Amino acid sequence: MTNTLLGKPVADKITDEIKIEVKNLKKKNITPKLSIIRVGSNPSDMAYERGALKRMEKSGIETKVHELPEDISEDDFISVLEEVNNDKDTHGILIFRPLPKQLREEKIKYTILPAKDVDCFSPVNVAKIFEGDESGLPPATPAAVIETLKHYDVDLKGKNVVVVGRSLVVGKPVSMMLLKENATVTICHSKTKELEKVASQGDILVAAVGRDRMINSKYIKKDAIVIDVGINVDSNGNMHGDVDFEDVKDKASMITPVPRGVGSVTTSILAKNVVKACKQINGLK
Ligand code: NAP
Repeated sequence: MTNTLLGKPVADKITDEIKIEVKNLKKKNITPKLSIIRVGSNPSDMAYERGALKRMEKSGIETKVHELPEDISEDDFISVLEEVNNDKDTHGILIFRPLPKQLREEKIKYTILPAKDVDCFSPVNVAKIFEGDESGLPPATPAAVIETLKHYDVDLKGKNVVVVGRSLVVGKPVSMMLLKENATVTICHSKTKELEKVASQGDILVAAVGRDRMINSKYIKKDAIVIDVGINVDSNGNMHGDVDFEDVKDKASMITPVPRGVGSVTTSILAKNVVKACKQINGLK
């Protein structure tokens, strides 16, 4: 019988571990703090922000939201970012992306302080993922994939993992993180030939395609473990993954649902990164 891998137990376990770490930091008079910089009020940013604020509160992490107008100039945005970079009480910075056109991400990603960059925006943190340098702050969604697999005792060593998608947000970093766990990784994309044939070689398949329920049972090896990163909202407001759960569930041995799967783990990774940044900034192990 297929095992559905829910995200909540993974997030709860990470939160419990963070709470202990925050308690210990508070004993040293240090309170971890996340500053969020949001431009405008895009509904999906607002939804993620509400989830993040709730998770930080549960974990004992302080928060501050800088809500900026949609038409803010690049100079004004950068002065807010520099203020947060220099704020001694802030240990983590989350900037919602994509930013409006007048704010050049190419410039801003070099302005955010890498030590406080809890969402892996800075090229320094991106490079650390590729180098396997554990002092970096990993991106939330790829880290949620790894934590979910580990939580459900999936041994990655020597496994054939197929990742469908090669974006810098999900596909590439998750592939590097799987490689670090000693998996043998195949990265597929829109130009991959015979995708069904390649994908169905995977002991584990990670779907990060951005196409509503594209991955059906033809892409899955019998008894494979399927991790669905996709978030697609249909015209009725219902959320679906990149995997056709109903079609795949009897062929896979384990599968993450959408919603209630990998997406539920991301805010706990964010909290974990704030605590990690806080400890590193304060020279603690
Ligand atoms: P993206 O930037 O659109 O990248 C999609 C990737 O899939 C690209 O590499 C693209 O290939 C590949 N692709 C597209 N169509 C394909 C096809 N027909 N066959 C094979 N490969 C195909 O998307 P993303 O930002 O990586 O996000 C992926 C999914 O994860 C989306 O559903 C997104 O909503 C979701 N997501 C979830 C979270 C979360 O917290 N759970 C966070 C971020 C994103 P090319 O490179 O060749 O174009």
